[in-house]
Amino acid sequence: MPPFAEARVDLDAISGNIALLAERAEGALVMGVVKADGYGHGMVPAARAALAGGATWLGTAFIAEALRLRAAGIDAPVLAWLVPPGEPLTEAIEAGIDIGVGSSWVVDEVVDAARRSGRVARVQLKADTGLNRGGIGPADWPDAVAALARAEAEGVATVTGVFSHFACADEPEHPATTAQLEAFHEALAVADKAGLRPEIRHIANSAAVLTRPDARFDLVRPGIASYGLSPIPDLAVPGLRPAMTLSAALVGRKRAVAGSGVSYGYRYVTDRETNLVLVPLGYGDGVPRAATNRGPVLVAGRRRTIAGTVCMDQFVVDIGEDTVRPGDRAILFGPGDDGEPTAQDWADVLDTISYEIVTRIGRRVPRTYT
Ligand code: PLP
Repeated sequence: MPPFAEARVDLDAISGNIALLAERAEGALVMGVVKADGYGHGMVPAARAALAGGATWLGTAFIAEALRLRAAGIDAPVLAWLVPPGEPLTEAIEAGIDIGVGSSWVVDEVVDAARRSGRVARVQLKADTGLNRGGIGPADWPDAVAALARAEAEGVATVTGVFSHFACADEPEHPATTAQLEAFHEALAVADKAGLRPEIRHIANSAAVLTRPDARFDLVRPGIASYGLSPIPDLAVPGLRPAMTLSAALVGRKRAVAGSGVSYGYRYVTDRETNLVLVPLGYGDGVPRAATNRGPVLVAGRRRTIAGTVCMDQFVVDIGEDTVRPGDRAILFGPGDDGEPTAQDWADVLDTISYEIVTRIGRRVPRTYT
C-alpha cells in the first residue's frame, strides 16, 4: 500500500528528459541541476537519474548540497555556485567540488583555503552579464580574473570553468538574452587574455537550451525541464514528462446539507446537499494556503477545486454525488495522463511558477520512486 500521502517520482522520466535535452543541446555537455533537493524530487535519486540520462556534471547552489552528493558516493563532477560566508571551502576542495566564485569577496577566501589544504582548488568563475544577482560584474571582472590567473601560476587553483546566468531567457523575445550573450563573450575574452583556459564555458538554463542554440557553449544547465516541466508556460515541449505526482488517500466522506460552511472561516458554503471528502495534505506539506477555493485536484476521476480554507494538514473537496471508496486517492498534480492537474496548472492558478510548486512540497510527504 502506498503511504497515505506521497510524492511519487518517476526517475525514468528524469533520465528521459535529460536525454531529450542532451539531444537538443547538440553536442554540448549537460549538467543536471539538483539544488533544493532536486527541485523537491529528492537530490540523490534525481542526480543518479540525471547521470543515467546522460548528464556528466551536476550543479547545486550550496557546498553542503554538493557534499551530500559525495557522501552518497556520487563522484561525477559537481559545481556549487553560491558561497555565503562560512561555507566549508576546505572540505569542498578536498572533495574535488568545483567552487563557483560569483563574488570578488570569495576569490581570496578560496585561494586561502586551498593554500591551507595543500590541494588545488577547482574554481569556476561566474560573470554577471546582466542578471545583477550573483556573479562578478564587469567592474571587478578583470581583477578577479587576474587574481585567479596568479593562483593558477602559484599552483593553488585551477579555473575549470567560466559561466553566467540569464535574467529573461523564459521570455524568448526579450532583448536582454542577446545582450547578456554579448557580455559573456566579452568576459570570456578578458579571461582568455589573462591566460585562463577553462574546460567549460556555460550560460544556458532550461529556457535557453530550448530556445537559444547560440547559448550552448560547452555545457548546458537545465533544471526545471529535466523534471519534465516547461520553463516557458506556453511553450509545449513534446517528449518532456513531468516526474512528480503528488497524491493522498482520502480520509473520509460525509454528507453535508445545503448551506454548510466548510473549513476554517467558512470560506466555502455548499450550495446544495452534497458530499465532502477530506484530503490529508495542507500548508504544512507545501500546499499553499493561497490555494483556498482555488487549488485543482482530481477526485473520483473528475477535476474539482479545493473547497474552503487549506489548513496545516488537510483540506476538503466537494465531490457532489460522485462515489468514493476507502483507499481512493486525490491527485493534486502529475503528468496529466489521467486528467489530473499538472504542476503548471497549480502555478497558473496561484500566479507563480511550476518551480515553486514542486520545490515547496514538504519533508513530511515521503518521496517514493518508480
Ligand atoms: N543555473 C543556475 C546558476 C541556476 O541558478 C539555475 C536555477 O535557478 C539553473 C541553472 C537552472 O535553471 P532552470 O531550472 O530554469 O533550468
